[in-house]
Amino acid sequence: MWSPDEIASVCYNHFNKLPKRGKPETDREWTLLAAVILLTDSSDQKTVHKQVVSLGTGTKCIGQSAMSMKGDVLNDSHAEVIARRGCVRYLTEQLYRAVSGQSSEVFCPGTDEGKWAVKPGVSFLFFTSQTPCGDASIFPMTGSQAQPCEPVKAIQNEESERRGLKRHAESELEETRQGPGMKTSDNHSSCRKSGDADEHEVITENKERNQLNEVSHYQPNVKKRPDLHRTGAKCVPDGPTDPLEAGLLYHNVGVLRVKPGRGDRTLSLSCSDKLARWGVLGFQGALLSHYLQGPIYFSSVVVGKGPYSHQAMQRAMKTRCSHVRALPSGFSARAPELLQASLEFTHNHTHIESKHTHTLGRISPCGAAISWCAVSQQPLDVTANGYKQGVTKKALGTLQARSLISKVELFHSFLKLVAATEDSQLPETLRGKDLRTYWDYKQAAGTYQQAWTQLRLQAFPLWPRSPRELLLFY
Ligand SMILES: [Zn+2]
Repeated sequence: MWSPDEIASVCYNHFNKLPKRGKPETDREWTLLAAVILLTDSSDQKTVHKQVVSLGTGTKCIGQSAMSMKGDVLNDSHAEVIARRGCVRYLTEQLYRAVSGQSSEVFCPGTDEGKWAVKPGVSFLFFTSQTPCGDASIFPMTGSQAQPCEPVKAIQNEESERRGLKRHAESELEETRQGPGMKTSDNHSSCRKSGDADEHEVITENKERNQLNEVSHYQPNVKKRPDLHRTGAKCVPDGPTDPLEAGLLYHNVGVLRVKPGRGDRTLSLSCSDKLARWGVLGFQGALLSHYLQGPIYFSSVVVGKGPYSHQAMQRAMKTRCSHVRALPSGFSARAPELLQASLEFTHNHTHIESKHTHTLGRISPCGAAISWCAVSQQPLDVTANGYKQGVTKKALGTLQARSLISKVELFHSFLKLVAATEDSQLPETLRGKDLRTYWDYKQAAGTYQQAWTQLRLQAFPLWPRSPRELLLFY
């Protein structure tokens, strides 16, 4: 029907056809790519049509102090998050078409009044050019990778006292190391330095350790000492922190993490955590769930060529939520199929680094984020620092500076959908209610909120809550 390589090439080709704006500078900048593919079975079910409906690139995340109370800034511009937001924009237009009597390639009337269902034979697949940041990126290096360039030393800290957790991490990693699903790319450098603090730190080996209070575990004669692929995402506050010890004990596994950002801390959860959440709540978000018969899940997640561990992906996307019960009808912890392609994204970090000549200066993450989605008006939306790329400082905060996938713009598209819906067709959750703000509309999505409460209680009690004052715009 389809292969991971076909999916990867559909996505890379789509990216190549986009205009230059927001793309990384050749041989000097790198970026990440993610996409949502609409899969439609042919009537005889022998072939499947693959269509990119949303594509995102981006590596950055803004800190807490740069967040906006107007919902007009993109906080998280990692490719995976941009691709999901673009897909929500696409689905909103598809619902708009459905409620206004036009044809939709996705939706048909559901069985409950005012609700819509995904057509039979239609499904969604998620592609990402690299292992998502956070938990899925933590796994042992193999073979030649497990030879650090220089001693990695342990730091004594209070967290190293957490013997139980360490033992847990150690045994899980040991299983990972010996597991049959283990795959890494051959050309991944174990000596890669961690980049800027705000970049999407895909799988790095961080050698730049604090040298204070250290206890050396370095044994110069021991070759292939096991070491770990690392993530730049930090454990969420109020929970266990990483032991930061040498080799396999650097990180905890299976925990929620926040993305690194320039300057102050970010409030954005790692892409591994967000994907795990979409695996239970669906990726449509709270607003669209008013209109939907049930959540929409990704049937598969395909990762491009690069460092990859099936076991780490499984842990991050499936195991952490598989025990969640008591979900409302229609919701389930049904994790996607996890696959890897053998084709590499030619703008990714590893590829650019291998081609780079030092006369070009240091390679860096591309600061822009591209969103493209299959909508009729202005499908392309290029941003930097959470605003439309190229806007002057003076224009920040104005309508022209807003990304079309910012919270406030997606909310306004949703309100247009509500306005276009005949009263008799309005979903019950939106009838006769005095709803005004983004927060009000999200909270009114009762079933979705119930599912989120269960997921939080049973799997992610430490998931940070968004400050309410950031969601009261309208
Ligand atoms: Zn990420």
